[in-house]
Amino acid sequence: TSKQRLLVVANRLPVSAVRHGEDSWQLEMSVGGLVTALLGVKEFDTRWIGWAGVNVPDEIGQKALAKALDEKRCIPVFLDEEVVHQYYNGYCNNILWPLFHYIGLPQEDRLATTRSFQSQFDAYKKANQLFADVVNEHYEEGDVVWCHDYHLMFLPKCLKERNSKMKVGWFLHTPFPSSEIHRMLPSRLELLRSVLAADLVGFHTYDYARHFVSACTRILGLEGTPEGVEDQGKLTRIAAFPVGIDSERFIKALELPEVQDHMKVLKQRFAGRKVMLGVDRLDMIKGIPQKILAFEKFLEENPNWRNKVVLLQIAVPTRTDVPEYQKLTSQVHEIVGRINGRFGSLTAVPIHHLDRSLDFHELCALYAVTDVALVTSLRDGMNLVSYEYVACQESKKGVLILSEFAGAAQSLGAGAILVNPWNVTEVASSIGYALNMPADEREKRHHHNFKHVISHTAQEWASTFVSELNVTIVEAQLRT
Ligand code: UDP
Repeated sequence: TSKQRLLVVANRLPVSAVRHGEDSWQLEMSVGGLVTALLGVKEFDTRWIGWAGVNVPDEIGQKALAKALDEKRCIPVFLDEEVVHQYYNGYCNNILWPLFHYIGLPQEDRLATTRSFQSQFDAYKKANQLFADVVNEHYEEGDVVWCHDYHLMFLPKCLKERNSKMKVGWFLHTPFPSSEIHRMLPSRLELLRSVLAADLVGFHTYDYARHFVSACTRILGLEGTPEGVEDQGKLTRIAAFPVGIDSERFIKALELPEVQDHMKVLKQRFAGRKVMLGVDRLDMIKGIPQKILAFEKFLEENPNWRNKVVLLQIAVPTRTDVPEYQKLTSQVHEIVGRINGRFGSLTAVPIHHLDRSLDFHELCALYAVTDVALVTSLRDGMNLVSYEYVACQESKKGVLILSEFAGAAQSLGAGAILVNPWNVTEVASSIGYALNMPADEREKRHHHNFKHVISHTAQEWASTFVSELNVTIVEAQLRT
């Protein structure tokens, strides 16, 4: 018998496409979390539907790209520049992202957007309809359609309106905020209603799922049940599906000669000092200034540690064309400069701050040789960096300091030191606690988290979601 087909719909396809001439494209698969998660799920015949990240205004180019993508089991959605500007940069990244991470709606610099709110929402709906059109074109009876993330909250409704029998799931990769936050959104009703058109709605944590259910009960006046939300006899199942990583890929990478070489170099470079590691996109949600200020306080209060510890912060550039992100970059640079000036010596500085990304092998080496990982997100859907650090620490058994505002705190809380990133005093004293932790306690904490990381993988996450979606639909049929 043939495998069930799974259509994965996400804003971005897992490829980067570069055009060479009129009808030739060069494609490279990117290895994000979602891709590895779904590559590991062998029980489905998976296809991807999404935007390729490039503007292709001409038909020859579109046909050629679609053909090239077909070999990678990818199907493109074409969005023109104006739609991308209003839908993606505008509504998704300037409205939904900050709101879902409790940064709020546009104020001051971003205030101009409140006036263009309606046109951005219209573009958002239009873009979601374009995704729906492509899904409809490729859909075959019995397919499972899995919609991803805040970019596509309107998609379940578009799909169900056309075909109420389609099996539709939706998963949110960010936090879902308290209903008090969601209430501020001018399109609060429409967004909730369209997500509820799905058969199964998934979140990383129970808290996010609970927030979504209370938004539906308070804002839409619907009834919440232990299974989900009920509207005139129709149940939308709501549940938590915490994502994981492909832990094998990290563990195996540590054996590669290339990674071992990187490790050797790093060990020599930082010999005699403890190394604390931060790996974040340079985004306001990651709490990078808070982290660095806490490290400063620790150095202030612990003069004996000043030449014995270094904070290595990898700050991956993101949305560099947006003024608020540029401001954050200079703010971080200023604090780092001040602290290095204050506590550095002729031969060493306490903070190594890099505005760049690392390749996979360099990253694994860093995860493996460092003594403490410091994650201080102010809000974070899950935070996979914390999982990846744990996966790479089987021999060293380093300590994870983890923000209680990251989704990962729900699963790695037992082994990590949980902190409130806003409380600089608490983070500073946790740094001291982590650096001084005896080996047996480190081992016990690490073991706890390692067991979790290797047994809750990305592959398992994806296959659980899809089988739950199938079960939900069978149960719904039994009820009617
Ligand atoms: N990452 C990367 N290159 C780097 C640093 C990090 O590819 O130089 C990856 C990292 O391995 C992780 C992801 O970026 O898988 C970050 O995921 P996370 O959930 O921690 O945060 P997000 O950036 O999605 O908010």
